[in-house]
Amino acid sequence: MVSLPKVNELGFFEIRLESIGGLGANLAGKMLAEAGVMGAALNGVSFSSYGSEKKGSAVKAHIRFCEPDTNIRDTSPVERPHVVGIFHESLSKTVNVISGIYEDSLVLVNSVKSTAELKEKMKLKGGTIAVVDAIGIALEEQNRVNMAMLGALFRLCPFLDAEFMKGVIRKSLEKKYPQAVQPALRTFERGYNEVVFETFALPEGETMPAFVRQDTPVLGFETQPLGGVITNPGNSILKDLSISRAGMMPQFDDEKCIHCAACDNVCPDFCFVWDELPDKKGRPQMFLQGIDYQYCKGCLKCVKACPTEALSEERDDDQYAGQHRVPHRFDRAVV
Ligand code: SF4
Ligand code: SF4
Repeated sequence: MVSLPKVNELGFFEIRLESIGGLGANLAGKMLAEAGVMGAALNGVSFSSYGSEKKGSAVKAHIRFCEPDTNIRDTSPVERPHVVGIFHESLSKTVNVISGIYEDSLVLVNSVKSTAELKEKMKLKGGTIAVVDAIGIALEEQNRVNMAMLGALFRLCPFLDAEFMKGVIRKSLEKKYPQAVQPALRTFERGYNEVVFETFALPEGETMPAFVRQDTPVLGFETQPLGGVITNPGNSILKDLSISRAGMMPQFDDEKCIHCAACDNVCPDFCFVWDELPDKKGRPQMFLQGIDYQYCKGCLKCVKACPTEALSEERDDDQYAGQHRVPHRFDRAVV
């Protein structure tokens, strides 16, 4: 039996996975828990919480381990994780992915950025940041992001046996998908070997932000707005779909575009920005200006529809996430 490196006041070592539906964090959580229980003789539990259960929306997976003489009677979400695995870097714009971390928690991010850049981006004062290019590995090995993240998570949790996990991967795939066994194992191993870490000391006099539980306000007859009025209606203008992209995004080449609008006809999220400009003869025509990446979910339907290869696939680059390479369509609208 192995010992847990640290535990909270209830005796638990806790992991939280921050992800989007479709990247496989739920399965990764279950596999982590199985490795702890079956491979390391710990007590363990894994469960997930979903939003709208839509592919591309934010999800969380929670894993809890303890020594076998401790019972797990706590199935509440992990609020103070010892390890956080962030499956999509852009999540940090809309979700407080580092909520509740300790000074010595480990934060693993799927990214091509450096640890210092991620520290800046996530506004971390100190602690250990681990980074792995899980999307890049998954694309190269033609496998899934969760396998690369799982490999990196095993490196962060040395009490879990990576060899045991490889056996679980083999066993769960070889009957139905034997051709997927080797790519999955390679992806897992690359995640394990390619993750890099850096620890940043807390500057003198600084402390980690205090953990604050976000309670949902209870609306009752005394607290609800007069007449039950909805004062904050939903508004899709502010929606940021960049977290829904699972690794690829379209790139626009103005030179090849014939402004036929085939891309706009298939785009489910009205990402294409047009402007009325004079054509060669001075007549007003609509010309495609580019893509508003704030609303692009990376489905790549537009790339398939484009007859001139003016649109092509490229690796999702977070510098465009939530931004627009062209004037925002609503900059010109009356808001
Ligand atoms: S489908 Fe291609 S050529 Fe047509 S408007 Fe879109 S980008 Fe331009
Ligand atoms: S990939 Fe293309 S079709 Fe899909 S949401 Fe983005 S711009 Fe629209």
